[in-house]
Amino acid sequence: DEEYILKTEKMSVVGELAAGVAHEIRNPLTSLKGFVQFLGEDGTLSNHNILRIMSEEIDRINEVVDELLLIAKPQGKSFKEIYAAEILDDVLLMLKETANAFHIQFDANIDPGVSFSGNKNHLKQVFLNLVKNSIEAMEFGGTIRIWCVNTSDGFAEFILEDEGEGIEQDRIDKLGEPFFTTKERGTGLGLTVCYKIIKEEHRGTIQFQSQVGKGTKVTIRLPLDPLGKENV
Ligand code: ADP
Ligand code: MG
Repeated sequence: DEEYILKTEKMSVVGELAAGVAHEIRNPLTSLKGFVQFLGEDGTLSNHNILRIMSEEIDRINEVVDELLLIAKPQGKSFKEIYAAEILDDVLLMLKETANAFHIQFDANIDPGVSFSGNKNHLKQVFLNLVKNSIEAMEFGGTIRIWCVNTSDGFAEFILEDEGEGIEQDRIDKLGEPFFTTKERGTGLGLTVCYKIIKEEHRGTIQFQSQVGKGTKVTIRLPLDPLGKENV
């Protein structure tokens, strides 16, 4: 429990810092990106590789800023009735090409009747981050299974199962901790964003089960009406 308090404190420190810094970074980045693009279109410059790398690095910083902003922003205002399929169809479409490039297929089974009250864009971000992690864990290809059902006790339950490298047991506790990453170019913020959106914003749960060398299973449960009728 002490660890949990530490984690929460760390998250609020990160949150405060993020809110202040992220906005200040966004504007100069946007103008840098514009200038780099302009130079790329200027035919007199020969070093297009450097410009391409600069542009990619700017995109990367922008992604980190987006993640920090998502962690920092106050949550829970824009809830609407949404279908699980609206979220997952979009996310899988967005990642289909990347998945194909790594010989990964999606096997999705989304009950079309599952709907609940939530923040659509934030939940898209959650599944985008989770499926990306699965793709990044599946060096040798395979199948990512996703299914979604209504449980009899009033939850929308999402299960995402990959055939990736898996996560060692003692690392599972660290998931969601800001900046925890095992990747050379990871931010360690993807799951922090997921935890914030699922647990704090939607009052849901997120749970990881994993076997090293076999794969990882993520179970998310969202209460069908997290705010209660009086707030609708
Ligand atoms: P990042 O992807 O930038 O490293 P995340 O917060 O998304 O940050 O993930 C943190 C860490 O959790 C990853 O670096 C990885 O070690 C581990 N992880 C998350 N999802 C998976 C998965 N599906 N399979 C294996 N490891 C995972
Ligand atoms: Mg990630």
